[in-house]
Amino acid sequence: LPSVEFQDVNFGYDADRQILHKLSFKVEPGQTLALVGPSGAGKSTIARLLFRFYDPQGGRILVGGQDISQVTQGSLRAAMGIVPQDTVLFNDTIGYNIGYGREGATQEEIVRAAHGAAIGTFIESLPKGYDTEVGERGLKLSGGEKQRVAIARTLLKNPPLAIFDEATSALDSATEAEILGTLGTLAQGRTTLVIAHRLSTVTHADTIIVLEKGCVAEQGSHRELLRKG
Ligand code: ADP
Ligand code: ADP
Repeated sequence: LPSVEFQDVNFGYDADRQILHKLSFKVEPGQTLALVGPSGAGKSTIARLLFRFYDPQGGRILVGGQDISQVTQGSLRAAMGIVPQDTVLFNDTIGYNIGYGREGATQEEIVRAAHGAAIGTFIESLPKGYDTEVGERGLKLSGGEKQRVAIARTLLKNPPLAIFDEATSALDSATEAEILGTLGTLAQGRTTLVIAHRLSTVTHADTIIVLEKGCVAEQGSHRELLRKG
């Protein structure tokens, strides 16, 4: 599994305003690192840099030890799965939404991914003789169910690197708690970066970084950070 490393990364969208200030951190292979911090701290910017939507103005970003400025955006995307904050689904079946963009995925694999993301009941509750080509449509799902579809899409992709970009922050707290367990399943056997607002949502992370104004303000386990208050 790849490591992810930011080394003294400087970045600003505009020349007159720097967003990340010599930011350094490392996610070890197979570990889960959470980035928490207030809105505007630069968390999503980190995800955008990892996808090479932008390039840093200073420092380096390494994935699996390789400087990503030497890697095409296509191969970076192939290695990463992202569960975004708001999943926009097609007005089509759940199976279609899970399998979209996953050319070559079989129906069986789609159903397995649906079960992995705990949304398989939607598929199973269909009348006999139906398959995932018909049935409940994406637009009818609740916010939590939509996030399960996004998780299933990522399970189906099976990337070595998973990114959760505020994947639960639009959900009510009961739904969030449910989804967090499923995210934990997805993080198993991958290098994982979790972007979150609140410390309470990232208890499962191996390491947590509190980001403030584009700098690492604190770093530690959930327990260590709670102790510091
Ligand atoms: P977070 O995810 O921690 O809420 P972001 O990384 O989204 O923070 O944003 C960090 C800062 O960068 C914010 O001040 C935001 O206004 C600014 N920003 C984000 N996207 C852009 C953009 N495309 N152009 C200019 N500024 C941006
Ligand atoms: P695939 O590209 O194989 O469908 P994903 O299902 O993981 O992979 O979708 C992630 C892709 O969609 C990324 O390549 C990225 O370009 C884009 N994307 C979707 N949502 C976001 C987001 N919130 N932030 C950044 N990229 C996103």
